[in-house]
Amino acid sequence: MSSYAMSPLMGQMMNKPMLISSLIEHADRYFGKNEIVSRRVEGDIHRYNYSECHRRSKKLANAFAELGVKIGDRIATLAWNGYRHLEAYYAVSGSGAVLHTINPRLHPEQIAYIANHAEDQYLLFDMTFLPIVQAIAAHCPGIKGYIMMCDRDKLPADGKIPNLMAYEDLIEANSDDFVWPVFDENSASSLCYTSGTTGNPKGALYSHRSTILHSYASSLPDGLNVSARDSVLPVVPMFHVNAWGLPYSAPLNGAKLVFPGPHLDGKSLYEIFEQEKVTFSAGVPTVWLGLLTYVAQNNLKFSTFKRTVIGGSACPPAMMKTLRHTYGVEVVHAWGMTEMSPLGTAGTLMAKHADLTEDEKQAILQKQGHVLYGVEMKIVDDAGQELPWDGKTYGNLLVKGPWIIHSYYKNEGGDVLEDGWFPTGDVATIDTDGYMQITDRSKDVVKSGGEWIGTIDLENVAVSHPAILQAACIGVFHPKWDERPLLLAVKKPGAEVTREELLQFFDGKVAKWWLPDDVVFVESLPLGATGKILKNKLREQFKEHKLPTA
Ligand code: AMP
Repeated sequence: MSSYAMSPLMGQMMNKPMLISSLIEHADRYFGKNEIVSRRVEGDIHRYNYSECHRRSKKLANAFAELGVKIGDRIATLAWNGYRHLEAYYAVSGSGAVLHTINPRLHPEQIAYIANHAEDQYLLFDMTFLPIVQAIAAHCPGIKGYIMMCDRDKLPADGKIPNLMAYEDLIEANSDDFVWPVFDENSASSLCYTSGTTGNPKGALYSHRSTILHSYASSLPDGLNVSARDSVLPVVPMFHVNAWGLPYSAPLNGAKLVFPGPHLDGKSLYEIFEQEKVTFSAGVPTVWLGLLTYVAQNNLKFSTFKRTVIGGSACPPAMMKTLRHTYGVEVVHAWGMTEMSPLGTAGTLMAKHADLTEDEKQAILQKQGHVLYGVEMKIVDDAGQELPWDGKTYGNLLVKGPWIIHSYYKNEGGDVLEDGWFPTGDVATIDTDGYMQITDRSKDVVKSGGEWIGTIDLENVAVSHPAILQAACIGVFHPKWDERPLLLAVKKPGAEVTREELLQFFDGKVAKWWLPDDVVFVESLPLGATGKILKNKLREQFKEHKLPTA
């Protein structure tokens, strides 16, 4: 060890722990009048500001203290994007407890498993999720009480749920005189379970420090670029990796927050976008599909919407082009995962790209982009050897950084790191400028005669056909090549295209041996709890599919 490391000269900066409570304190003090608008499950629009949000969060924190909630206790939520959910974000984590956001789209059995695994003490829920709570309560003996996020008059009278309280009663009964406790910034702050398409879901346990660092980094201009001039509408749910950190990064920057509540259809979204002068939004591709279809069918334009982050699954280039060219909305294609808080990369251009043609720019923007400072990435082969950054060679994508897990909650799955790197399970290329492109999820890759076929490319070609709304490509058994690609496609309403025409459309767009062997038109594709196409379900459904022999 060098003498420098043995006796370092210490910096003389204050060592203030980075705590989540400081975000809402900051927003209250410096952006107190900036608005938070929510479409409530009650049906109306609720409006207040950061100061009032802080005040109610402190009341809720007092309520938790009274209920006996202690540092490190897990408090669950089953809720849409709304102001009460935001208050819970701050009251729970700010008190030193752990906010466990559960995805209500999961099966009740899975929800009960997750709540028991997390050892949740209390569960807060939106009125819409009362049936879920009724279904799980008997199976979750560890939950001491349930808080329905409503006024007392909305509580069900049947007494079926043990220790059921009304959120607004807790707010009313408690004082806003609360001093946020100061503790180690590495303490756990929140818990999200992975979608768990195989096996039981596993928990990613974030810390205050990781959350604040992620909030800083994700706010950067080449990340989400959130500012006090924005009106931010997170379509991505607060139960899907904390709405990609927006409930933290919006108050950090003083941005107006707009919460859409339970209505995420094209019409409801368009109306609230216009009404609340939304400038920036974020969500998975399936959500934009609904919004864009509504806007096109009604011949509408956006008046304030300028920028959106699309991620969670690959954004089809056709969707990006429509948003950019038809509606003038800048699209930032981002990649990340629950285990990464979630942001890893975002796609924006560099100064040297200014003179490129529109097509050349589009080719860069449709990649998943550049790492945010703090995240490191590399691609490796199956033996763990690092692969070149040439934009062509693809390999397993590994990452590391201060907002990436080193192990799952309760050490499920054991040691997950490979030489200090987290294996993402994604397959990607990285080009000479450091732009990463996901070619597939490793378990979705079609393994044809020992070679890999990336399904995202094939799906992107399919949805660029004017008659195709959605597509998914899966590998099915082939006697000679082990697996060959089968394309499942949903047609746009009223549009026509034949199997042969669609296959011909691939000519010249992908390597010949990548061409799907068959196309099946389906009415819809199965979506998982976070809006992603469930390929494991499709593989199961089509496992007996006989490909035509050439
Ligand atoms: P989740 O933890 O549910 O958010 O899922 C994370 C996974 O979603 C990643 O490992 C990727 O497989 C996929 N994913 C996220 N963003 C993208 C993207 N922009 N393009 C392709 N796949 C993505």
